[in-house]
Parts: sequence; C-alpha cells; structure tokens
Amino acid sequence: MPTRFDADLDALSALLHGQPAYRIRQVWDGLYHRFAAPEEMTDLPKALRAEVEAALPPALELRAEQTADRGQTVKFLWALSGGATVETVLMHYRGRSTVCVSSQAGCAMGCSFCATGQAGFSRHLSTGEIVEQVVRAARHAVGQRAGAWSAVEGPERKGALNVVFMGMGEPMANYDATWAAVERLHGAVGISARHLTISTVGIIPGIRRLAAEALPVNLAVSLHAANDGLRNELVPINRKYPLGPLAAACRDYVATSGRRLSLEWALIDGVNDRTTDAMELAEFARPLRAHVNLIPLNPTPGYAVRGTAPGRVRAFATRLGDLGVNATVRQTRGTDIDAACGQLAAVAGARPAAPVATPARRRTEAGTHGAAASRT
Ligand code: SAH
Ligand code: SF4
Repeated sequence: MPTRFDADLDALSALLHGQPAYRIRQVWDGLYHRFAAPEEMTDLPKALRAEVEAALPPALELRAEQTADRGQTVKFLWALSGGATVETVLMHYRGRSTVCVSSQAGCAMGCSFCATGQAGFSRHLSTGEIVEQVVRAARHAVGQRAGAWSAVEGPERKGALNVVFMGMGEPMANYDATWAAVERLHGAVGISARHLTISTVGIIPGIRRLAAEALPVNLAVSLHAANDGLRNELVPINRKYPLGPLAAACRDYVATSGRRLSLEWALIDGVNDRTTDAMELAEFARPLRAHVNLIPLNPTPGYAVRGTAPGRVRAFATRLGDLGVNATVRQTRGTDIDAACGQLAAVAGARPAAPVATPARRRTEAGTHGAAASRT
C-alpha cells in the first residue's frame, strides 16, 4: 500500500476513484501546500477526509523529537514500516530553514568516521518516506516560526526552505526514489532546484545520471581527501570510483547543470588538515571552480580521532583562499543531540557499540602539526 506521499497525482486520483478533479486538487494542495493531515482538510466533506486517511496512511511514526541550539536545531527520530528508524534534522537560520533528510536507513558505504556508516545498511527509503520527512519538518518549522514565517505564503515561503540530502544514507545508492522525491518536492511543494542539494560520497554513475536530468539541483561531493591513498582509507568506495574519474564526472555535471559544485571536507585532526592536504584539495577544486565546505569532524563513538581545533580550521580555510579556492567553515549544529553531520545513527535503535576503529593513517608533519597530533 502506498503511504501518504508515495502517490503522485494520477495515483491519488485512482485511489480516490469517483472523486471529481477539483476534489483531488484540494487533497493535493492540502498535503503539499498546507502540510495538512486529512482531518485538518476542512474544505473537504468529512467522509472524504476519512477516505484519504484510510487510503494514504502516513509512513513515519514519530518516536522522538529533540531540540538543541536554543530551538534552532530539531532532530526527529521516525520509525518506518518494518521497524527501521531514520532521522531528519531541521535547522533554522536567519530568514530560512534547512531540512536535512535521510535517503536510506543506515548506509552500506562504510566510511569509518560516520556514525551512519558504522551502523551498516538497513534498507532503502521510498519516495514517500523521503518527501514526508520534508513535509513533517516544514510543518514543524511553520509552527516554530509562527508570525514571522507562517504568515508568508506561496513562493516566498518556498524560497525560505532548503532541502539537503545529507542525512542518513547515500542518495545515489537509492537513485530512483531519491530523484522521484526531488521531482515531487519541486513540482508539488514548489521548492526550486537551487534550494535542493544532493550530497554523494562520489558514486560516479549517479552523478552522470543526475547530469542527464532536466532539473539542475545542487551537487555536493563528500571528498575529505584529495589523494587516492588517503581517500581509499577514509571513504572505501574511492577504490571503485577514484579521484580522476570522479573529477571528470563533476566537471561534466557543472558544465551541463550550470550549478556550482560543493566539496565537503570534514577536518580530521592529524589526518587531512595539513598543508599538503590543503594543496591537494586546491588542485582538485580549482579546475572545477568548486566551493569547499569545511567542517571539523564531529565525534562519533566508533572513530578515535577528533575534529581539527577551531584555530587550525580557520588557518586551513585561509590557506585554501590563498591557493585560489573559496572555502566556508560550516557552523556545526546539534552536536549535543547527535544531530550533527555524520552523527545520525538511528538505524540500530541505539548508538553503535562497535569497537573504536583505528583511524586512517595519521601522518604527522614536522613542527606545528606534531604538537596538535599528540594531544589526547
Ligand atoms: N552519503 C552522503 C550523504 C550523507 S552524509 C555523503 O556521504 O555525502 C552527509 C555529510 O556528512 C557528508 O559530507 C559526510 O561525509 C559527512 N560526515 C560523515 N561523518 C561525519 C562526521 N563524523 N563529522 C562531520 N561530517 C561527517
Ligand atoms: Fe554513507 Fe555518507 Fe556516511 Fe559515507 S559519509 S557512510 S556515504 S552516509
């Protein structure tokens, strides 16, 4: 049975067979524009509200909701049919809100520094399960921003909402459902392509498929290392999709989409934050005119090494600037509720109890770096 946001307009008409087109449209608007539950669709006859509720049950059962950063970060834990759990993070910034959605319960890519990767793969999410995360978070945001935000209707409100596929899972490993969700968020909710971002660990066939789509969404590639030796260790899928072909796919994506590429780089103390790392990153990023997002590694239980200290993060960003690359230091959100990048680990129902992994080669540099690396 399809869940509430799995059905497209045709499927909705088929499910509510016999209803006139204007009624179908009212239901659709209620779901996607007003983020309403069927019982709240007071413009519908009561019997039809009940029919919608029965035909399109919600996919996500709220298990927990936690807030951090004085209400500016909210993490939702959802249970899916079959028992898997996923998380969604809502972050408010001045004038806009960002929903970080999961595309899979768990992840099979095995990046050692990522809590989702440490927990392993559970299952793919359906289109409706992805779209519903956005709708439920957006509804929450409208409530939180009552007055300032909820009064804003139509395109302005849509412009205030960004969706990033940076929660649990690898979107390109669940391409069809992910892309159908993107199209629904664009077509039905009205979120423009420039407010939609897909983040990938670097699955080249996925990037190539994305380039062939009509809708030019933003692409973020989680790079973390710009030489194959180190990247093989940090991001094991690099053995299959190494940096050379990855750069070529990125170049083609930028050329066809006209979008700016972002490279994500989690700064790991003593591992990928040295001068040589900045130089390699600059060599990779410059020809692609990519923007680099730096974030100190967030702590996860299964990985012993820590994030780079703030001063050295700024120095790394400055170094990149000197090398001709635009870099932003990303604000870390929700670390205390495990809602920060790479900390989502709901799949096992609990924090992974995996033994602490040996970090990737911890190469030290003479001088400044030795001191930093020896901190405990
Ligand atoms: N699978 C996709 C999208 C989800 S992960 C991808 O990897 O791109 C979202 C981002 O968080 C990625 O850039 C990922 O590399 C990063 N990340 C994972 N673990 C992290 C950690 N412990 N600290 C900071 N960022 C992390
Ligand atoms: Fe999967 Fe992305 Fe985590 Fe790697 S960083 S394990 S690809 S979710």
